[in-house]
Amino acid sequence: MKWEERLQAQMPQNKLASAGMMCTYCDLGPCVINPFDEEPRVGACGIDAENMNMVNLALKVMKGLSDYTIELPETISLSLETMMGPHHTTGITIQSLLEASRPILKASEERVSAWHIDEQKPRDIEQGVGVLQRDAVNIVLTTYEPEMIKTSRSQKMRKLAQDNGAQKINLVGALCGGTEAAYAHGIPLLGGTDQLEEAQHMIDFIYESGDCVQACEQAVENFTSRDKAQFVPTATTRVRVGYPIDTEAINAALKKGVINGVVGLMGCHYGKSTWDTDELVQTLADSDIMVINLSYDLKHAEPGPESSALFSEYGIPLVLNGGCCEPGKFLGIDSLTVLIPTWGDPRLLTAAFAFASEGIPVILGTMPFVIPAVKNQLVEAGVTIESDSSRIMDLLR
Ligand code: SF4
Repeated sequence: MKWEERLQAQMPQNKLASAGMMCTYCDLGPCVINPFDEEPRVGACGIDAENMNMVNLALKVMKGLSDYTIELPETISLSLETMMGPHHTTGITIQSLLEASRPILKASEERVSAWHIDEQKPRDIEQGVGVLQRDAVNIVLTTYEPEMIKTSRSQKMRKLAQDNGAQKINLVGALCGGTEAAYAHGIPLLGGTDQLEEAQHMIDFIYESGDCVQACEQAVENFTSRDKAQFVPTATTRVRVGYPIDTEAINAALKKGVINGVVGLMGCHYGKSTWDTDELVQTLADSDIMVINLSYDLKHAEPGPESSALFSEYGIPLVLNGGCCEPGKFLGIDSLTVLIPTWGDPRLLTAAFAFASEGIPVILGTMPFVIPAVKNQLVEAGVTIESDSSRIMDLLR
């Protein structure tokens, strides 16, 4: 069963839960409240709808921070005692959540700067299910692990593959880590969750972590028993990757009026998002707005990466595929708006709050689970929610 079918099986999703009116924070719960018409309007501890949103958002921020091993600050105290107290409040506000999220930007920047980029250079790579090969050992890399790239290309592994009837080892990327590997090392890119599900019977091994040699050996063994008759040849698309995100040059181009703004497109386009990101990228490029795309859905705009004034003057493509969705990659860019088609993982919602805390506008394509009053607070704080991507240009102006 594919994720779309699993999601469909959940429909229609609960309206109260969709507004964040369900809480499982403590064992008095689960509490479901209804601030719109019926009782109860408060949880068993006494908190109201807005405070319940804050509990749920704080848990998301806590998860987002933990991805960078950062703890929730003391200013955000998730405490049942406070909720049970005379005022029945969490004391958490949207502003305090934004402030709490901010440190992930620096942490992300440090993470990215620790990655080796010696082999990074502009080049065209293939993208799509068609990167898999019938007669090669197909290994999918989903974490950024340069050692795996080296091992899969070694003489020893090439010989092992050939001794077992394969033409070669075909290492391709997928998901966040694989996108970074495609960006920095030029390996082909399978894509995301959709492509992984579609291609599962053509993949010999998915590398997430562990010993690289053992992984290659296991992949070769799996190749020998893969049913080659099930292989479906599919076309690929060719996309340019590998340009550095040169903040100084981008800001100089902005100042000189060579580009009219910068949009950071962040995270992957799947799930509930109804954005047409291909059309959006083309519209932005047509308006000389630079797009830095941090997702496994690599982008391209006509008439091609080398045809803009930005490229002629600064050697930077107007649509730059910049690897995986680390928010720290955008730090220091002026006139930036961050677009997040689907926040999907709490890390991206935390990133959205972090950008907003820095005064960088964010547009989300899917709603956080909040009531209208809290949505308005998010908008006031710089986090807009817009499900129709054709309206985004108006929001940028
Ligand atoms: S924190 Fe309050 S609303 Fe949440 S589960 Fe416990 S009692 Fe219910």
